[in-house]
Amino acid sequence: MRKVKATTKTKLQAIVSSAASFLLLAVPMQAKVPGIPEGTTGATKGIVAVSHPAAAQVGKDILQQGGNAVDAAAGIQLALNVVEPQMSGIGGGGFMMIYLKKEGKITVIDSREMAPKAVDPKLFLDKDGKPVPFEERHTNGKAVGVPGTLLGLDTALKKYGTMKLGEVIDPAIALAEKGVPVNWITAQHIADSAEKLQKHGTAGRVFVPDGKALKPGELLIQPELAKTFKLIKEKGTDALYKGEIGEALVKEVQRTGGAMTMQDLKNYVVKEREPVKGTFRGYEVVSMAPPSSGGLTLIQILKLMEGFDNKKDGPLSAAYLHRLIEANHLAYADRAAYMADEDFYPVPKKGLIHDEYISERRKLINPEKASSDVKAGDPWRYEGKKAVKAMSQVEVSPVKQTTHFAVMDKWGNLVSYTTTIEDVFGSGIMVPGYGFMLNNELTDFDAVPGGVNQVEPGKRPRSSMTPTIVLKDGKPFMAVGSPGGSTIIASVSQTILNVLEHDMPIQEAILSPRIFSSSYPTVSWEAGIDQDVILQLMGMGHAFKAQPENIGNVQAIIYDLENGRMYGGADNTREGTVLGVDAVAYTSAEPPAPKESPKAAFQIKVNGNLYPYTADQLAWYKGEPYVQADKLLLGLHAKPGSFQSEQAFIDGRAFLPVKKVAEGLGFTVTWDAKEKVVSLQKQ
Ligand code: GLU
Repeated sequence: MRKVKATTKTKLQAIVSSAASFLLLAVPMQAKVPGIPEGTTGATKGIVAVSHPAAAQVGKDILQQGGNAVDAAAGIQLALNVVEPQMSGIGGGGFMMIYLKKEGKITVIDSREMAPKAVDPKLFLDKDGKPVPFEERHTNGKAVGVPGTLLGLDTALKKYGTMKLGEVIDPAIALAEKGVPVNWITAQHIADSAEKLQKHGTAGRVFVPDGKALKPGELLIQPELAKTFKLIKEKGTDALYKGEIGEALVKEVQRTGGAMTMQDLKNYVVKEREPVKGTFRGYEVVSMAPPSSGGLTLIQILKLMEGFDNKKDGPLSAAYLHRLIEANHLAYADRAAYMADEDFYPVPKKGLIHDEYISERRKLINPEKASSDVKAGDPWRYEGKKAVKAMSQVEVSPVKQTTHFAVMDKWGNLVSYTTTIEDVFGSGIMVPGYGFMLNNELTDFDAVPGGVNQVEPGKRPRSSMTPTIVLKDGKPFMAVGSPGGSTIIASVSQTILNVLEHDMPIQEAILSPRIFSSSYPTVSWEAGIDQDVILQLMGMGHAFKAQPENIGNVQAIIYDLENGRMYGGADNTREGTVLGVDAVAYTSAEPPAPKESPKAAFQIKVNGNLYPYTADQLAWYKGEPYVQADKLLLGLHAKPGSFQSEQAFIDGRAFLPVKKVAEGLGFTVTWDAKEKVVSLQKQ
């Protein structure tokens, strides 16, 4: 993984901010709006935070020309289809959350993909009733849902915009015709997906011409996509939902194994939804309702965390991260059991975030130890109903990708929009002659029938997308979201916690390392978490993956309600960019590649999990494996300073013999001479 993230505040910054909080105490003034960076002048005439600079520029230009946030969001989405074609576009779907200043209301345009008519719950089972293997399922025409993005944009513009689809599409046409240089992250995605792109032919010819993946700096020119956008400019959404683009789309889906028809396209419906709402420390958190699991799971996590003194422990402490992991396990268990398309099954929206239910669930968190057996609760009881059949299916799938961006205009309207074609480059299927990728969103349904999220005709697959707006005293001051499949909810909740609980300015809140764990015991983590903290958490029973990896890609806007200034934050796992109309211009640089660490003489595994000891913390001494004393005791959850009589000093540092110490703590110890692994085992 390429991302080496900026970690926590430097000492100097910490001193400056504590001096600032002293001043705040000394001089009576209004409470500061959270998340605002110090020493930066915010914009007043509009701002965008987008994962690609060229699409951000399109949004800024539209705002500058007098468009509102919805106009700019539509322009950004169409531009992203050109410059970040692997993440979103008219072959996919999404959730556009809009705050309308005049009405004081927040609404969502849901353009989530729908299952075609000719599907049944066994769509992804083979003839023996087993789920079709992941790779095959994800790159087959069967995985393609009826796309909603274009109709969603048109609906949003007609209802809440000031410009027409035929106008906001112009910059995207220009970008497709003139071409954009492939940036480092798109080049990486093309290289990683080369096989998938070539599988069905068309996409391979665009992104892997002559069998060579496009490299950073090469120009990506997309004449067919430009032609498609011109057709849409001329004929409107009918060109896709009733016309030649749709016919080509349906033909390709059928050729690659799916059963979508023109009638399915004609039947596609955009839905306008009310978001779900919860509170956290007096702030109101407004987020995505079903068919997304995002909002409810996010609010559950925040409310579970609200019961602890998180500020005292700090954002990267073992105590805090342990609780966060446990809170995630509780919330994700409910997510798997109860959340799906509520047009098909009722979702206990009130029960899931009911204060009493949350405090009942919070009691299950043991502050000392990872719980190995977390199950879904019974939120229906808090709605006065008998539980509807709950079914969990936890599928381990590679981290998917999508994109999130946010826009604020000079009138104070705000858009928080997460949009997707599901995996990187979706299904890998491109519509021949029309140059856009098709989603594989139907793989968000459970492959195995029987639960609330099984495949059904006309249904929307359960999503994790979590476009969110946070309000203070009824006024929105933060728009935030992320891609990353089910990790989205973890990224969004941690960014919000970093701002509201740990007082970080938005950019720092985004770059601070994140973790993801939806069930016991495995934890994914980003570089920057201290080794001692990881060892402590492993000592409590969590299994940290051997290597760090990037989680999500957060873009956010912060609005200073006190003085009307706008700020943004963008992630560095892509070319995240914040552009204000009259101030603020920031693009993240490509992070440095992580350093290779020297190979250790042997490794330590505890209950099958590799411990992250570095080569210099391990020593072969007098024919025995030794580990630096403090690190070994931390990882085995033993008291600091125990086993002192066993200590040996190597190069002036205290080491302990693994076998003796581990056996003393009740572990069984085995040595694999071939793999050079010391294995410790305990029930
Ligand atoms: N299909 C995913 C969802 O709706 C989005 C994919 C992603 O964000 O990476 O939850």
